[in-house]
Amino acid sequence: MFNHTRAVQIAKSIGKSVYMQLSARRRARLSRTLARSGRMPIAILFYHRVADDVVNNWTISRRGFVRHLDWLEQHFDIVGLDEAQLRIQSSYNNRPTVAITFDDGYAENCDFAIPELCRRNIPATYFVASQFVKTGDPFAHDVKAGFPLVPNSIDELRDISSRGIEIGAHTKTHADLGKIHDDAQVRDEIIGGARELAEWIRRPIRYFSFPFGLPQNMSQAAVDIVSEAGFRGFCSAYGAWNWPSNPGFHLRRIHADPDLESLRNWLTFDHRKLRDRARLPFSEQPRTAGREYCQKTEPIPCGSLPSCAVVSPQVGSSESYKAL
Ligand SMILES: [Zn+2]
Repeated sequence: MFNHTRAVQIAKSIGKSVYMQLSARRRARLSRTLARSGRMPIAILFYHRVADDVVNNWTISRRGFVRHLDWLEQHFDIVGLDEAQLRIQSSYNNRPTVAITFDDGYAENCDFAIPELCRRNIPATYFVASQFVKTGDPFAHDVKAGFPLVPNSIDELRDISSRGIEIGAHTKTHADLGKIHDDAQVRDEIIGGARELAEWIRRPIRYFSFPFGLPQNMSQAAVDIVSEAGFRGFCSAYGAWNWPSNPGFHLRRIHADPDLESLRNWLTFDHRKLRDRARLPFSEQPRTAGREYCQKTEPIPCGSLPSCAVVSPQVGSSESYKAL
């Protein structure tokens, strides 16, 4: 039977390929100009789940993930979130730079994605919603989609952390913080979730990512709580670059789950990305300076697997408002 969805995918892929070819010279020119002027933007990617079963918009196949990493390693410095943040806060960056993050915390990532990142010594930050780790319950959006996927366990988080992948906070219940107006509840989601993670892995939680991550899913009150709690930065999820000389507290990310053509399109300076500007419902400056959260937790030995590099304390803004 003719598969309409597949036909649409093929048509889109051809369209992207043609667009890439037609805009290649313009992209290359823009890239050279940005590098020469030290204005090379920093890209932060976010994935969710790497697996070959249950194909959905937040799952990339193992082969697809390998193709991404191969291409990224060839063309970019792949850095941790803290190095990306330093390059954003610097007034000069002439290096193509990308950082990798994951959201939510799916069990299957321990089967391939995490070992593959470690094998390549690629740093990453792994944002987790704590309640699902504790209960083992699937995410509501997965249940709604008919795929009750398994979340990571506490032991898996400890293993991921011990391999040098930084664990970040993603609320307790994957709450839409743009819709919660009770201060205590927002605090519990942000700080309570981070505290649980820190206690489990016995390491500081330095970065926070907003569930759903669009401007309407955030608020000034939530950002202020993130700042007051001492997080180094927070991630959004609406597809944009981070420019040198930005405050670097708000870290903009690009959805990396789709195919390689989409990724190449966004990361090779699609000029359309320079046009759109988001109106943000919050100030991008942190209200308080630099107190790290949960510093009192005891560190644990790193590198449970000999083949993994111990990524040194790791790691975490542009402006297009276009969900990818
Ligand atoms: Zn999420």
